[in-house]
Amino acid sequence: MAVPFLDLKAQYASIKGEIDEAVMKALAGCQFIMGPNVAAFEKELAEFLGAAHVVTCASGSDALLLALMALGVGRGDEVITTPFTFFATCGAIARLGATPVFCDIDPATYNIDHRRIETHVTEYTKAILPVHLYGLPADMGKISAVASAAGVPVVEDCAQSLGASLSGRMTATIGAMGCVSFFPSKNLGCAGDGGAVVTGDAALAEKLGMLRVHGAKPKYFHKYVGINSRLDDVQAAILRVKLRRLSEWNRRRRQIAETYDGLLAQAGIAAPQTAEGSGHIYHQYVVRVKNRDAVMDFMKKKEIQTGIYYPLAMHMQECFAYLEYSKGDFPESEKACEEILSLPIYPEMTREMVEEVVSALDAANRKFNGTARAATVK
Ligand SMILES: *Cc1c(COP(=O)(O)O)cnc(C)c1O
Repeated sequence: MAVPFLDLKAQYASIKGEIDEAVMKALAGCQFIMGPNVAAFEKELAEFLGAAHVVTCASGSDALLLALMALGVGRGDEVITTPFTFFATCGAIARLGATPVFCDIDPATYNIDHRRIETHVTEYTKAILPVHLYGLPADMGKISAVASAAGVPVVEDCAQSLGASLSGRMTATIGAMGCVSFFPSKNLGCAGDGGAVVTGDAALAEKLGMLRVHGAKPKYFHKYVGINSRLDDVQAAILRVKLRRLSEWNRRRRQIAETYDGLLAQAGIAAPQTAEGSGHIYHQYVVRVKNRDAVMDFMKKKEIQTGIYYPLAMHMQECFAYLEYSKGDFPESEKACEEILSLPIYPEMTREMVEEVVSALDAANRKFNGTARAATVK
C-alpha cells in the first residue's frame, strides 16, 4: 500500500461540499480584500485560542516580519532564536537589518534549549523568538523567565503548533505575540498562502493592523512604513470551514502518533518525546535514523514517502555566511539535521497505513543498520 507524505486531496474530499459553498459565496460577495470572512475568521480564531486579538496577513513569514516590525526591531538589534527551524524565522530578523543570534536546541525536544539562552543575551537583545517545532511547545515558562530578566518580549513562531498547548494554555497566547501560518501543508492550511499574528496587547494589535496595510489609518494617511500583507477573503472563507475541524484533526494526529509510538517500541526505534504538561499536535512525527539516505530510498521504493525538516541548520546557510558561524558551533542542531526523518502523519491516515510505514522503516533498519535496535540513535 502506497503511503503519501500528505494527502490534501483526501482532506478536501471529506469537506468538499462546505468548502465549495464557502468559496462560491465569497466569490459572489466580491469583497476580496479585508472582506467579511477575514473579520469573522479573526474573531473565530481568537475564540479558538482564547486570545484577545488576531491580525491576519499574507503568510506565516509575513506574520513573523510584522511581529518584529511592531516591536521596532531594526539595525543594530539582536534577536535570539534557534538555528534548527524553517528559514522564515531567521529571514524575518535579517530582513529588518537585525542580527539573528542562534542558540542550540535540546536534542530531546528539538526546541531551543532554554538553559543556554541566557548566555546569548546582550545589551542589544531586542526579543527572543522560540519555535514550537513539529507542534511540540518549547518550554515557555523558562524562556519567559529569561526574557523578563533581560527585559525583552518573547515572540512565538507557531507556524507548526496551532492548537498545541502548554499547561492548558494555547501556544501563540503565551508570549507577547504568536505567529501562525496557513500554508497548505500546515495543520490548518488554506488554498494558498496565509498567516496571522496573535496578541493579547491592544496597542500591538492596532499597530499590526496598520502595518499590514502600508502603515495607514485611516486609508492614505501613513503613520508607519508598513507592507502590503493581507489574508484574502476567499482564503478566510476556507479557513473558517477548516477551523471547525481543527481540534478533531489534531486529536486524530495524536491518536496516530500513539499508534506509531507503540509500533516503533516493538521495533526498538525511539519515539519522539513530548514534555510534561504539553499538548503536542504532531505537525511532524520525527524519528532519528542512521544511514538516512539509504533508509529513505528503501522506503521510497516501497512507496512510503518520508521527509527531512530540515537538512541544513540556519547558521550554515550560505546567505548567513556574514554572521561568521562555523560548523560545530551548534552540534545538537547539526546532528539533528543529519539524523531526523519525518514519517507521514495526517488525520486521514488509517492504522494499516501506519503499520505499513513502521514495517518498511523496520525492514530498512535491519537491512542497512544491522538490527533495528542498533539503528536507534539515542
Ligand atoms: C511554515 C513555517 C513558517 C513560514 O510560514 P509561511 O506561511 O510558509 O510563510 C515559519 N516558521 C516555521 C517554523 C514554519 O514551519
